[in-house]
Amino acid sequence: MKILISRCLMGAPCRYNGERIINIELLSLLEGQKLYFTCPEVEGGLPTPRSPAEIKGSRVITNLGNDVTESFHIGAEIALERARFKNVDFVIFKEQSPSCGVKRVYDGNFTGTLMEGQGIATKKLTDDGFRVYSEEDMEEIKKLLEANDEDPSE
Ligand code: SF4
Repeated sequence: MKILISRCLMGAPCRYNGERIINIELLSLLEGQKLYFTCPEVEGGLPTPRSPAEIKGSRVITNLGNDVTESFHIGAEIALERARFKNVDFVIFKEQSPSCGVKRVYDGNFTGTLMEGQGIATKKLTDDGFRVYSEEDMEEIKKLLEANDEDPSE
C-alpha cells in the first residue's frame, strides 16, 4: 500500500530538538510497503533544532512567543499535496506533535498538558478525506495491511 508517514518516525533527526526516534515495531510492520515521507515543520521552512511550538487557538506559537503559524500551514499544504500526488492509501503521523498529532496535542501553555486535538497537517489531510493514524494505532494499521494482502485489488 502507499503510505505517507512522518519522517521522524523513520528515524530522521528532524524533530524540534534534533533527536532521533526509531520505532522498530513500526518499521518492521511497514516492510515492503511503498512509503512517502514528510516533515511539515521542516518543509514549511523551520530549522532543526527549533524552538518547541504549541497550538494556541488559531495560531502556532513557540515557547519564546514567536508566531510560526504560516510555516506550519505551508508545511501542511506540502504534506497534503504529496499525499494527493502520490495518491496514498493512508497516513501515519507522529502523535502529540503540533503538526502531526492525530488525537492529542499540547494545550498551548507549555506546561506539558495534553488535550484532544489534531496537529495542523493532520487536520488539513483529514479535512481532505485522508485517513490519518498514529504510531499508537498499530493494530488498526496491521489490519489495513492484512486486508490489502488478502485483496490486493484494494
Ligand atoms: S512530528 Fe511531524 S513535523 Fe514533527 S518532526 Fe516529526 S514529521 Fe516533522
